[in-house]
Amino acid sequence: MYSQHRHDILEQLETSRHDGLTTEVANARLKKYGLNEMQHEQQEPGWKVFLKSLTEPIIIILWIAIALTLISASYDFLVRNDFDHGMSAIYEGLVILIVILVNSSLTYWQKSTAKKSLDALSSDSRHQSNVLRDETWQKIDADQLVPGDIVDVKMGDFIEADLRWLSVNELQVNESHLTGEAEAVEKTRDSLPEDTELGDRTNMGFSGSTVVNGSGIGVVTATGMQTELGKIADLLQQTKQEKTPIERTVSQLTKRLMVAAAGVVVVAITFDLVKEYLNTNTISVTGLMNSISGAIALAVAAIPDSMPVVLSIVLTIGARSLARNNGLIKSLSSVETLGATTFIASDKTGTLTKNEMTVTRFFSNGVNFAVDGNGYDPVGEIHSVKDGKNVQESDFTPFLQSAVLNNEAQIQRNDADNYEPLGNPTDVALIVLGRKAKISRDKLLSETGEKDCDILRVFPFESTRKMMSTIIKIGDEYQILTKGAPDVIMQHTKDAMFNNKLVSISEAKETLEKQVSDYANDALRTIAVAKRDLTKDEALNGTQTDLEKKLTVLGIVGIIDPPRPEVKKSIAVLHKASVEVVMITGDHAATARAIAYRLGLVKDKEGRVVEGYEIEKMSDDELFELVPDIRVYARVSPEHKQRIIKALQKHNEIVAMTGDGVNDAPALRAADIGIAMGINGTEVTKDSADLILMDDKFTTIEKSVSAGRTIFANIKNFMRQELTTNVAEVLSILLGTFLITQPIGHVSELTPTLTTIMVLWVNMISDSLPSFAMGYDEPEHDIMAEKPRDVNQSLLANHLLSRVLIRGFVMGLAVFVAFYWAASAGLQTNEAQTIAFLTLVFGQLWHAFDARSAHTLFRRNPFSNMYLIAAVLFAGISSLSITMLPFFNMLMGTSPLTWELYLAVIFLPAIPTFVLSGLKEIFGIKIW
Ligand code: ADP
Ligand code: MG
Repeated sequence: MYSQHRHDILEQLETSRHDGLTTEVANARLKKYGLNEMQHEQQEPGWKVFLKSLTEPIIIILWIAIALTLISASYDFLVRNDFDHGMSAIYEGLVILIVILVNSSLTYWQKSTAKKSLDALSSDSRHQSNVLRDETWQKIDADQLVPGDIVDVKMGDFIEADLRWLSVNELQVNESHLTGEAEAVEKTRDSLPEDTELGDRTNMGFSGSTVVNGSGIGVVTATGMQTELGKIADLLQQTKQEKTPIERTVSQLTKRLMVAAAGVVVVAITFDLVKEYLNTNTISVTGLMNSISGAIALAVAAIPDSMPVVLSIVLTIGARSLARNNGLIKSLSSVETLGATTFIASDKTGTLTKNEMTVTRFFSNGVNFAVDGNGYDPVGEIHSVKDGKNVQESDFTPFLQSAVLNNEAQIQRNDADNYEPLGNPTDVALIVLGRKAKISRDKLLSETGEKDCDILRVFPFESTRKMMSTIIKIGDEYQILTKGAPDVIMQHTKDAMFNNKLVSISEAKETLEKQVSDYANDALRTIAVAKRDLTKDEALNGTQTDLEKKLTVLGIVGIIDPPRPEVKKSIAVLHKASVEVVMITGDHAATARAIAYRLGLVKDKEGRVVEGYEIEKMSDDELFELVPDIRVYARVSPEHKQRIIKALQKHNEIVAMTGDGVNDAPALRAADIGIAMGINGTEVTKDSADLILMDDKFTTIEKSVSAGRTIFANIKNFMRQELTTNVAEVLSILLGTFLITQPIGHVSELTPTLTTIMVLWVNMISDSLPSFAMGYDEPEHDIMAEKPRDVNQSLLANHLLSRVLIRGFVMGLAVFVAFYWAASAGLQTNEAQTIAFLTLVFGQLWHAFDARSAHTLFRRNPFSNMYLIAAVLFAGISSLSITMLPFFNMLMGTSPLTWELYLAVIFLPAIPTFVLSGLKEIFGIKIW
């Protein structure tokens, strides 16, 4: 492909440079060659995921429980001939089996749907390619590319397939993923000798490379696994779906609870056996069996079986709610990190401002002009600010010609007869200005112009260089037109044009600088326009650095880019939430400061602004000292962003950083939360970001932080709910073991307070459902009034542990008291256990309304989350039903109660929650 002539390749691929493929041919080729994607190893099949979930540690405990019920049943059938007892052991085993299957199905369902819904969310961020099909340029998903497609790439794009270049324009590409060479490669379109090595095939583009400069058009020669990247795809590391920090913490927590449970079980069995020995002077096998089955309940009680599944589901619910706010999150771990963000470093242009640029003033040929008009409409008068003198077109014509020729933007009339900008907004502003003076690029380049004018080369704008240049040929003359940040241009300037005379830069400097600072202090973005005559040889072969010097300044423009109106409020909200906001911009220091002041980002009009050249001179330690106090950075290059992030992170700050250009990708990766722009961002930045703003708005960052905090709060709330229940279950069973040493009424001293199945029911149904529902809770009113969460702090910090223990203790005690009372009142074993069971169920259902608030249930409207109401009603009613229906009575050892008792077990368990929360409100207690 690299050794043939490009026309032969086009012929061979049966395609055309000007028409592209037809959709029909493209579809046929797609069938033949397959999707343009890397096929990593086969995904784990569903049954494997399912089987794997059957061997999780929590589930293994349940398997052991089943084994024990089987042993106990055989003993009943064969030795004791106690058929009823044996059957109830069998039922117990069956129910546990059902629980295992339900849990595994849930895990499987969660794994597949969570992944799907995350994929669906991120389908908006799938790679796109600009391709020529049916004679029109269009954007398609990159995986649809086929050999023969004509594609167009520009700075910031990925190359999505292997290409042969048909035309290139200062095209430079980074191919380090194939060659290991970090330096960008300059591309050409000419044929190369047969024996050229991969790294030197400069007329080819390779899938996975990034365009770091210029643009190019190429024909796709290979896609998917046929590309050079595909050939080594097996060597590339596959990204695994990693557990999020909180998921890791939770699985650690469950492991610890399992160890604790094992300890408690051993103690309880020992205690039972000692108890029996003291009572009867023997230890019977029956006694051993009984105490083991009690111990199973205890083990199951201690472990929040459903917590890992509920957690992943709640995280997914959170990611979806973020997407509704126009924030697209790429991994679940970032959902958590977002809420802990302490510093947000934002670009100015387009994020804090509207990116609707309009030239309002300019200075040319020594004359100051003001410009009327709004938006992109190319109408508006230009007046001279020179003591009311008439406008002389000759004062701005050369300047404006230069500004519109050295320019890659356009404006286009749309269906509604409005003008739409196309391309770089700064350039658009200059195009509009030109049109106001009846100077347009098309007219200048058309054949009918006075002199034949052609564009030979373009050095595109780069935020590192802060300049762009175009080399043109007018008649027989060659010129370089350069424009860029005035302070940068002036470093490459020889003289300036004032009143049609060339004035040396040493003389002109003061006037120009004053002009720039006047504009900048008025929050205007400034650009200097310059040019120089070249020889033909220079024009065709000179390097960028050699050509962009000894320039003549033609003029300076002042461009207004109004702040987005809603940003001021967002910044105020973030400040209240103790999140610092920092502006990082390539613009002039004075412009940056003026905008920062208008947005309330800084209080002090004269506050310190650190500029890129200062950062350049600073050591990392000096920068470290400085960063906590600086809110505005100006004239910054993308490399500086990384250093600022690192310095802030050394202060233990959690940094979110926005970026839009290719060069921002490393900074986005270095940040804790890299943020890319969905509309104006390049493919490369979107790829390295954690969060994509679908609307490019700063306010979306604020909303995402708030959503991140809400999700974390909801997770803490449901964990408080689940763990409290576990404490209550364990305590009520242990109290039964330790305190009931003699039979009470019909109830033997070996009867556990709750049966294993009851405990499982509570964990899987009446606890999990409200927990899911808490994932849908809206933020509490003060969520953005608190400090960001300290990521190093334990999940159980801030009184969560003491709340779980105290509330769980009280609830467990209540369950035991209910059981003890029922036994003393002469009720049957099943009735006493049912009373204990329902006391627990309703105790925790009431408690759910308290757990969902960082304060108490009195501060949250219970009806604000209808999912929760539905979950609580369902859990309550189904728990009552299983005590009334004979089938469940047999299966679960429950028993119907009198209606007085039902009323008592529904309402009395509310008392602990209401009393404790009431005391909390009155005395401002935090620990429960
Ligand atoms: P930011 O995105 O933070 O506003 P940029 O890197 O886009 O910063 O711009 C930095 C400076 O480069 C601007 O202040 C302006 O002087 C100059 N500049 C921006 N866009 C262009 C352009 N298209 N052509 C020439 N100069 C430009
Ligand atoms: Mg910019």
